[in-house]
Amino acid sequence: MIYLDRSALLKSMLAAILFPMTLIGAVALAYWLNQSHSYTPETSAVIATIAAGLWIWIWEFILPYRNAWNKTDSDLTTDTIHLAVTAMMTKFVKPLYMFILMPVVGFLGARYGSDHIWPHHWNLVCQLVLMLVLCEFGRYWFHRLSHNVQWLWRFHAVHHSPNRLYWLNAGRFHPVERLYLQIPELIPFILLNPSETVLMLYLVTNSVHGFFQHANIRTKIGLLNYVFSMTELHRWHHSKVIDQSDKNFGNILIIWDLVFGSFFLPQNKEVGVIGVLNPDYPKDYIGQIIAPFQHRKDKPLDYEQRKHFYLNQAAEHVEKATL
Ligand SMILES: [Zn+2]
Repeated sequence: MIYLDRSALLKSMLAAILFPMTLIGAVALAYWLNQSHSYTPETSAVIATIAAGLWIWIWEFILPYRNAWNKTDSDLTTDTIHLAVTAMMTKFVKPLYMFILMPVVGFLGARYGSDHIWPHHWNLVCQLVLMLVLCEFGRYWFHRLSHNVQWLWRFHAVHHSPNRLYWLNAGRFHPVERLYLQIPELIPFILLNPSETVLMLYLVTNSVHGFFQHANIRTKIGLLNYVFSMTELHRWHHSKVIDQSDKNFGNILIIWDLVFGSFFLPQNKEVGVIGVLNPDYPKDYIGQIIAPFQHRKDKPLDYEQRKHFYLNQAAEHVEKATL
């Protein structure tokens, strides 16, 4: 009996500290590799992200939120390809937007000096927090619009299509969505020109937070739920019930959901079924790449079912989805 109590206590402690410990550990690892071992910021970020990803994957088996979500099916191949494409795009999209924004950068540089807009003298953590808050504002609205504008939802549905949540879901994005989803992040970086170290810390925070946000790990982070858009909030965002999934749009922080009234954290309730409404939504990579462009009457797209839901507010739809 004493053993059981200790085990439960240990699990609740881990549920509280695992996320902050992982995020701080990954950011500190990247910083240490960069400063003490002369690795480039990019290499340091990649090593810390991979290490944190593997660490999170192990914890999915030690402290699972739902045992059934640890069962692999064809989604593993699909998500691995998505993650590889997403990672490659992150690398190549920045030069494209730098080129597009070159006139604005030139104007700001001539007027203020290229290094004078950003508070380089601030503590690095404060610089990171400032950049997170700035980038989150645009990400929040892009994401919220993606749930309400039909053609945007067509692309965003790919991210909502898995029927289980696990760490690799973090990379499941349609490449077209990835292209415009990076705009609100890249514009502040290109225009404000923070140091490479701030960019490195931002990339590690973004990737590791994303892995953990989707991880099948039982967390209970208390007041941190009012700072980070973490698992307890983000699971509702992946719910099949539309009234629940059209909430918690925050990428890393939850600040703009709190400000604009889309924060959702019901107490003592577990999320129901995860995924999109369309039972025929493709599970393979190629099928998901094509899906946003298909429009066949015999194969309705997911947005048509969402539209139907909003038009009718069908109560039985909610009941079915929460089974
Ligand atoms: Zn979404």
